[in-house]
Amino acid sequence: MAVPVSQAWTVATYVLKQKLMGRKRYPLVLMLEPLFRCNLACAGCGKIQYPAHILKTDLSPEECFKAVEECGTPMVSIPGGEPLLHPQMPEIVAGLVARKKYVYMCTNALLLKEKLHLFKPSKYLSFSVHVDGQREHHDFSVCREGGYDIAMEGVRAAVAAGFRVTTNTTLFDGADPNSVRAHFDELMEVGVESMMVSPGYTYDKAPDQNHFLGKAKSRRMFRAILSNRKKSWRFNTHPLFSEFLMGKQNFECTPWGMPTFSIFGWQKPCYLLQDGYADTFQELMETTNWQNYGAKSGNPQCANCMVHSGHEASAVDYNFGSLKGFLITAKKYMFPSTYPDEGAMKLLNEWRPEHASPLVQIKASAGTANNELQSVSGD
Ligand code: SF4
Repeated sequence: MAVPVSQAWTVATYVLKQKLMGRKRYPLVLMLEPLFRCNLACAGCGKIQYPAHILKTDLSPEECFKAVEECGTPMVSIPGGEPLLHPQMPEIVAGLVARKKYVYMCTNALLLKEKLHLFKPSKYLSFSVHVDGQREHHDFSVCREGGYDIAMEGVRAAVAAGFRVTTNTTLFDGADPNSVRAHFDELMEVGVESMMVSPGYTYDKAPDQNHFLGKAKSRRMFRAILSNRKKSWRFNTHPLFSEFLMGKQNFECTPWGMPTFSIFGWQKPCYLLQDGYADTFQELMETTNWQNYGAKSGNPQCANCMVHSGHEASAVDYNFGSLKGFLITAKKYMFPSTYPDEGAMKLLNEWRPEHASPLVQIKASAGTANNELQSVSGD
């Protein structure tokens, strides 16, 4: 199983309780962003373009715990920014673990090896390491030569120290499905518990606007990557979300499924968009115009979005929404399919890697307001 049984049980009982209470909208994972600064400056990132005084601000442990208690989700994901740059991150993680929250601390792993001793292995804690593909692809994606090797060193150190380690791979236009599949092999070989894969979101603030995937291209790419999968691959995403990426399911977005709390407060409506902030979780739920979001709403900002933070909660809700949904999902967990697909195999065999664009390197260090783009390598 891609997650421990205790975690699956905790999540299942939580969702069933929400259903029995008749809650139409309930959160599943809190996206807790305790800081925005980062030690990378990826071209596809929409989180690090704030002025210096914002990038220097951190949520305190107390603010983090208050947010966790307000929304009550069984899982907490800590993205950023780079959480390991937060001086009180060990205290925040320890406090969440003490509250029996399943924590996914998202990290680019550049500092993982040196900071590992500040954390204790626990079934409640996973390091979710951001690795966007094999060495060349990852370094291109994070605009940092050598980034892959450092991240993988961190992964190996954390696995050896007994931590749960998962990975988070974001794919953009130009990704090579054959290389992504080889990347899955590499991750399984180093002992990661399970993997997550998702298309990138078209942040309008991101410096590089040329490599985001449209929906049709995303489905084609994910069909090539995730069909005919190896039995050795373990994913921690819901099987129906995986099918959604491959074009086999159609889910509307559930923007309240993974609410985001940061130094600005509760972000409306989702992790990706910023249409204002609420002071409390209740205010977020009650004052957001949810009908304005998701593909069906016609909102152009949602038109190409297939990201897991908007759509995986939809798969989970379908799972528990009816007996049929429950039985279909239970079968998929008990007898996981390799998704045999001759057409996808042909697609894979005929896929030609696109001519790579020059690496977009952000010249200024993260933490400054005006990042400057510069092409640093041809191909
Ligand atoms: S479709 Fe994407 S961008 Fe739109 S609300 Fe959902 S998660 Fe946010």
